[in-house]
Amino acid sequence: LALIVPRAGEAYLIDATPDLRDQLAMIQDSARAPRGAVDRDPLDGVLLTHAHIGHYSGLVFFGFEAIHTRELPVFCTPRMAAFLRSNGPWSQLVALGNIVLREVHDGAPFVLGREVEVTPVAVAHRDELSDTVGFLLRGPRARVLYVPDTDGWEAWPRPVREVLSGVDVAILDGTFYSAGEVPGRDPSSIPHPLIPATMDLLEPLVREGRLRVYLTHLNHTNPALDPDSSERARIESRGFRVLEEGQQFEL
Ligand SMILES: [Zn+2]
Ligand SMILES: [Zn+2]
Repeated sequence: LALIVPRAGEAYLIDATPDLRDQLAMIQDSARAPRGAVDRDPLDGVLLTHAHIGHYSGLVFFGFEAIHTRELPVFCTPRMAAFLRSNGPWSQLVALGNIVLREVHDGAPFVLGREVEVTPVAVAHRDELSDTVGFLLRGPRARVLYVPDTDGWEAWPRPVREVLSGVDVAILDGTFYSAGEVPGRDPSSIPHPLIPATMDLLEPLVREGRLRVYLTHLNHTNPALDPDSSERARIESRGFRVLEEGQQFEL
């Protein structure tokens, strides 16, 4: 995800994926204050949800061998920051000043681009190397909650419907449609809310027009990736959507 604040001329990346180069190219294409294609200063900051491959490993491209950024702010929890500070190759980014770690805390808002308030939201997830957060983005007109990766909603300390109160758009974990999608893996070792369970939980809010839900983080085994699948049709008939690359939301 990217957060682009045209009035401030700022662009932030939320989660640095292994496809970081594509992420930067997409941001440069869509930002109204684009920077050059080869630039040591491609972003105003990066926000990280947690230390799983799809969410932080792209940070390597900011290092000495590649972009070699100068003091790029990286917003993350203290536990995530400690992990980056004390393990290579991430520790080299810190030591060389490629990135500067900015510790943020569950429930404590901070402002980006002068007008977007960002609140980290603690997320229940298997936390091997770091803890996990989502981000609530509050602009002048709308609130977007981004929770791409979590264990089942029942694992949350607060009911997720309570967390969603006042949220206009929720971009949520849609990893699996059904249990046992991945051959040879024990589903209980990689828990995620199954898409039908997410719809059961949130359909009343969606039907009432109080919430729009976009599913993301779909595993390659998820049949709903196929726009012509019956699973996709079921999702859409219940008022939910699968997030598309390049899709934009006005804050
Ligand atoms: Zn994860
Ligand atoms: Zn993930």
